[in-house]
Amino acid sequence: MATAQQYDLAIIGAGINGAGIARDAALRGLKVIIFDKNDMCSGCSAISSRLVHGGLRYLEYGEIPLVYESLHERRYLRLTAPHLVEPLRITIPVYAGARRGPLLIRLGMLAYDLLSFRKTVPNHEMLNGVEIHEAEPGLEVEGLRAAARYYDAQVTFAERLVLENLLAARSAGAEIRTHCEVTRIVVEGGEVQALSFEDYAGNTQEVRVNTVVNAAGPWVDRVLEAAPTTTRRLIGGTKGSHIIVGKFAGAPQDAFYVEAAADGRPFFIIPWNNQYLVGTTDIRYREDLDHIRASGAEVDYLLAETNRVFPRASLSREDIHYAYAGVRPLPYKEAGPESAITRRHIIKVNKNVAKGLVSIIGGKLTTYRNLAEQTVDTIAKLQHRKLPSCRTRDTDLPGAWGIDRARERLFELGTLSAAGIERLLHIYGGRAAAIAELASTDSQLAATVGGENRVLAAEVVFALREEFAVTLTDIVFRRMMIGFDADQGRKMYPQVAAIAAREAGWSQEQEVQQLDGLAQYARSLRVG
Ligand SMILES: Cc1cc2nc3c(=O)[nH]c(=O)nc-3n(C[C@H](O)[C@H](O)[C@H](O)COP(=O)(O)OP(=O)(O)OC[C@H]3O[C@@H](n4cnc5c(N)ncnc54)[C@H](O)[C@@H]3O)c2cc1C
Repeated sequence: MATAQQYDLAIIGAGINGAGIARDAALRGLKVIIFDKNDMCSGCSAISSRLVHGGLRYLEYGEIPLVYESLHERRYLRLTAPHLVEPLRITIPVYAGARRGPLLIRLGMLAYDLLSFRKTVPNHEMLNGVEIHEAEPGLEVEGLRAAARYYDAQVTFAERLVLENLLAARSAGAEIRTHCEVTRIVVEGGEVQALSFEDYAGNTQEVRVNTVVNAAGPWVDRVLEAAPTTTRRLIGGTKGSHIIVGKFAGAPQDAFYVEAAADGRPFFIIPWNNQYLVGTTDIRYREDLDHIRASGAEVDYLLAETNRVFPRASLSREDIHYAYAGVRPLPYKEAGPESAITRRHIIKVNKNVAKGLVSIIGGKLTTYRNLAEQTVDTIAKLQHRKLPSCRTRDTDLPGAWGIDRARERLFELGTLSAAGIERLLHIYGGRAAAIAELASTDSQLAATVGGENRVLAAEVVFALREEFAVTLTDIVFRRMMIGFDADQGRKMYPQVAAIAAREAGWSQEQEVQQLDGLAQYARSLRVG
């Protein structure tokens, strides 16, 4: 067996937190390797509400520092990844008899504005019943007393945010190993020495490392089982589900944040990817982490609550394009209401398991950058090293610049519609110029896929060559993002598979296997 490579830091889990830590650590000069047992962003980070938000709801639980942190992280993300993180106007309707009356909502809004000073979005405004009815005629009017309007931000494709962090990490020297499951944390003399992992081909390999960050999200406790010493449970996950529907009768212009009649929990109805994302639920969960589906009861709850607020919608299960569900990696708490469990993150140094092992508990998409900064500072202390200061607050993510140039290059290709060009820019930002470059070298790659002149064949090759996609599912659902079209992009699968097979050198049998895997994944998101 060849001598294992030595790294300063190994990260287990390439969700938003692992990817953010990899980027920060690599930018500060550490030799980093990051693993994911599946594709990057295939865990909790892919099933969120996709909001980059302060978390208005957390004010109710007195989590002022978390709201403050989130609102400022929202600003940094808007500045460093404007192509991925966009402002989102949200309306909160206030009905007679609701748990949260107009005064409480107003106070929350004022606090939100105060905590987000220097923000890049406007302050809130209050509307009376007539004004809100004029603005959103589809909204239930009975008992409607007022509404609050405020701004947060949305990351349509969290997958691309994770990816761009990994791309930046790779540019700074990090090694990215997706589809590699860490199976053993090797500890000798009480200190971490190495990690064993199983690669995509099923081979077991080892890397030498003395600092490991366990950023496995809901799987954090499972990963800790790979170390020789056991520890108390860290994660007490709650399940959250979303449904995705098309534009419905009376559908709102704005995103809506509504108090559910059934249990008083606030939930979102968000314009997203030319559809509406409705969610979420929040239920304690102790079952299988690898195969989670929205339950019939969750789906019916979300449909009923949406129909109540937008009565013309009359949504039923047949209107659902797809749904997704997952588990929040929250700190373990035996009892109490789910919504009261803190959403703050904890950077846990597992010194009772092994010196050099750190686990990440909780965290939000919104706050990943700060979490990464704090984690790398913790690693520096553990390693008794003086590292350069963190630079991620004002360092652009890779797609943030060159967007106008990319637009020109895509236009010059002459094969994409105006909507197609905007689609590519929305997904790849300025990096779309490199896709145009690739397409300009080969007329087959300049052709479009799917018949609407909005998807470029070159994207498939780009995903494999430049964005470390391995499977067809990676390409469709986590690189090109066509898996989240209303029809899950299904009519494009054979064409995308053929291009990928040519590029990756798949045999006919492998191509069929990849197509089966993709179809199975797409099916797993449909509501039966
Ligand atoms: C329903 C819901 C809605 C949410 N909405 C929002 C929101 O709108 N805004 C917001 O800011 N936050 C939101 N969050 C919170 C946020 O999504 C999560 O806190 C965050 O994504 C956690 O990221 P992570 O990187 O820690 O975990 P994950 O994204 O789960 O990443 C962990 C990774 O570890 C990998 N892994 C596991 N075991 C191994 C192993 N042995 N070897 C290698 N890899 C392994 C997994 O494959 C996975 O990819 C929401 C969460 C939920 C559940």
